[in-house]
Amino acid sequence: MTAFVTRFAPSPTGYLHRGHAFSALTAYEAAREAHGRFILRIEDIDRTRCRPEYDAAIFEDLAWLGLSWEEPVRRQSEHMEDYARALRELAERGLLYRCFRTRREIGEEIGRAPHGTMEVFRGQPLPAHEEAQKLAAGEPFAWRLSLEAAERTLGGFGALTFDDEARGEVQARPELGGDVVLARKDVGVAYHLAVVVDDAGQGITHVIRGEDLFEATHVQRLLQALLGLATPAYRHHRLLAGPDGKRFAKRDRAETLRELRARGMTADGIRKELGFG
Ligand code: GLU
Repeated sequence: MTAFVTRFAPSPTGYLHRGHAFSALTAYEAAREAHGRFILRIEDIDRTRCRPEYDAAIFEDLAWLGLSWEEPVRRQSEHMEDYARALRELAERGLLYRCFRTRREIGEEIGRAPHGTMEVFRGQPLPAHEEAQKLAAGEPFAWRLSLEAAERTLGGFGALTFDDEARGEVQARPELGGDVVLARKDVGVAYHLAVVVDDAGQGITHVIRGEDLFEATHVQRLLQALLGLATPAYRHHRLLAGPDGKRFAKRDRAETLRELRARGMTADGIRKELGFG
């Protein structure tokens, strides 16, 4: 039997809501059906947004839903050196550049792109003397992946494909993400890098997550190729919508699992409602 290892990888930046429950249950049930393994990973690299009470609630809420997971649980904040190593490797190979632009500057630049469409950011390293000046002045910078350098290194993106359960073999289009940030000014590492390092390091064979991360998969497929990491199979599940037809999201103050629990909803009730009866 082939191995099946999947994961649920929440960020403790808010309480879990139905959308998270659906995602966690989808991965958990897939592992159970495949007689595989289910891993919980805490994606807490952004210390400015993560809070201990959200972290603790993840464990409480998932246990309440009836899930169990392997111990020890990997916490990204405890493995920053792993991500720094990958970052150094990419930087040494000339695949990254320092970006000193502020968020506002980038917004303005993207806004000025032709056709009025939102275009993703593509940039390039500053001339050496300008960069040296900024570094000497202690200006903060992010590390961005250079799509141009990546394309040169790989001889094009044509060979980058991934297996998507609903779509079959998908041609990766990393340009969808532009020159993504791989190390943030404030945090030292960014989401895409930590995820690919961990998915490979933890031997994840099946990444099961929401359709909202489909574009991220294109970017992550490129990082896997650049870092020589295995590519898991992907399943992007549908996003749950609330009664108003809008998808659940933390920022819309979707009702949290703990609020549902407090007003007497049972775990069985939620599971049934989400189609896991
Ligand atoms: N930590 C991410 C989130 O909370 C999910 C990452 C993933 O599943 O790849 O949205």
